[in-house]
Amino acid sequence: VPVSRIRNFSIIAHIDHGKSTLADRLLQVTDTVQQREMKEQFLDNMDLERERGITIKLQAARMNYKAKDGQDYVLNLIDTPGHVDFSYEVSRSLAACEGALLVVDASQGVEAQTLANVYLALDNNLEIIPVLNKIDLPSAEPDRVAAEIEEVVGLDCTDIIQASAKAGIGVNDILEAIVQQVPPPADTVDQPLRALIFDSYYDAYRGVVVYFRVMDGQVKKGDKVRLMASGKEYVIDELGVLSPTQVQVEALHAGEVGYFAAAIKAVADARVGDTITMANAPAAEALPGYTEANPMVFCGLFPIDADQYPDLKDALEKLKLNDAALSYEPETSSAMGFGFRCGFLGLLHMEIVQERLEREYNLDLITTAPSVIYRVTTTEEEVIEVDNPSLLPPIQKRLKVEEPFIKVEMITPETYVGTLMELCQSRRGVFKDMKFFTQTRTALIYELPLAEVVTDFFDQLKSRTKGYASMEYQLIGYRENPLVKLDILVNGDGVDALAMIVHRDKAYYVGRAMVSKLKELIPRHQFKVPIQAAIGAKVIASEHIPALRKDVLAKCYGGDISRKKKLLQKQAKGKKRMKAIGTVDVPQEAFMAVLKLD
Ligand code: GDP
Ligand code: MG
Repeated sequence: VPVSRIRNFSIIAHIDHGKSTLADRLLQVTDTVQQREMKEQFLDNMDLERERGITIKLQAARMNYKAKDGQDYVLNLIDTPGHVDFSYEVSRSLAACEGALLVVDASQGVEAQTLANVYLALDNNLEIIPVLNKIDLPSAEPDRVAAEIEEVVGLDCTDIIQASAKAGIGVNDILEAIVQQVPPPADTVDQPLRALIFDSYYDAYRGVVVYFRVMDGQVKKGDKVRLMASGKEYVIDELGVLSPTQVQVEALHAGEVGYFAAAIKAVADARVGDTITMANAPAAEALPGYTEANPMVFCGLFPIDADQYPDLKDALEKLKLNDAALSYEPETSSAMGFGFRCGFLGLLHMEIVQERLEREYNLDLITTAPSVIYRVTTTEEEVIEVDNPSLLPPIQKRLKVEEPFIKVEMITPETYVGTLMELCQSRRGVFKDMKFFTQTRTALIYELPLAEVVTDFFDQLKSRTKGYASMEYQLIGYRENPLVKLDILVNGDGVDALAMIVHRDKAYYVGRAMVSKLKELIPRHQFKVPIQAAIGAKVIASEHIPALRKDVLAKCYGGDISRKKKLLQKQAKGKKRMKAIGTVDVPQEAFMAVLKLD
């Protein structure tokens, strides 16, 4: 196909507004996927994604479409992940497109994710086509939401497409709009090869499969290519397009989207955002915008059963092959034994990895509370990065501690502005701006320490607003603050896995709350268990768990057997997630207690 008849586009939407359903419908209407092989949500193929209804990984699909003008077009849909943790990947997949469909649920309206994705699309100079989805719903308010998109996003919505991905309404209008409004790729076939990697995954047989968009020049099977950021060179064994299953082709030129395999060992060697060029005739400059997606949130992962340490190591190695953003290194904790300190892009990424380790690799893990990276300047004027609170140098050895700050944009109905401001204030937030769009849409902008958000901020935001508010965030830099290390002592011993870094002004409050929460969570033992919070040598809060008086089974004495059995089973189940710290059994929840202090 000539470049003039190619259209590359993405779909951007807030979660649940219908992106996957619309993608499915487009594949169906263009006969890209036969009716009988159509599984619902073809593009979301990871089990976990399907269960949670979230889109994590990008995929692409090539469709053939005969437009009303009688011409045949190739439409490449490049899917974007929908979550803030993956915004770098969203931005790179948008960079591979000339246009984007902005899908907004007509019964809901503009949300934080809608806006964040629109900003990314505008940064990449994309033509944005707004679409009102779910107009089949009785609660749909197309006029109100169209006005909202004009107001909040600033797009002309006079002729906005009204669609229902579910009922198949407006799908042809969408295809026509893509052909007419999205510009064709620039015709730069004669220039040296530059192709943008927007996704990759590890395949046990072929090595890493790289998804890319050719920006300039062309690439053929057998070519020796160089990845400009990593500097590594590979010979392309297999080249193809995604329709949406992989179909091999001999060559791809500027404007086209495809995949290749070249015996690459891990996705970290072919990172999203890297530029592919020809090894013997390289382009002078890489495509703009490459950065490495760095982990921002860290936690310790420890096997409950020490025998599972090698299995955990193995599992992390395997996951890493497929996840360039995951980092891990061995960690030894006096309380927890051998495990790993793992780094993630954000909270969702952390949850996904933990869940996969337990589900796909059958590991029983204890997870410590999430932490951020602190920058500590020592008295020797050395700057070190601390991702583990227990490793914060003592106060007499540090000059200053800096912590990461983020800009958070929340969108909420006006009625919840008060409670959200209160939440942000209690998390050391700095008010920046408030924009009133409509009764149901007020934007609230705060700067917050990331550490205060990685705990339960998102859950709080949702519960305080009955689920109506949404948020997005971006890292804005490091700031110095009077931060101290809070140690938790159980039965007289400091538990490194419970140590945390907190603001000096909140230390007393957090110390007291932690101690009473732990008292609730740690079961009684045969002996009295003191629990204390301390800063340095100074104990700031203390409680104790009284000793067990009676044998638990005594209650069932003479009672029926099945009740006794049930009780034992219940105890066994509880035990599964216990870690023995000295002589005290501490349950998993205790390590997450800091997330539930309010
Ligand atoms: P995504 O998170 O943006 O990918 O959203 P999904 O495509 O997974 O859709 C979220 C939910 O909305 C699913 O239950 C869909 O069946 C439903 N949905 C999507 N499009 C429509 C529509 O046009 N009308 C109605 N009534 N429901 C829809
Ligand atoms: Mg989806």
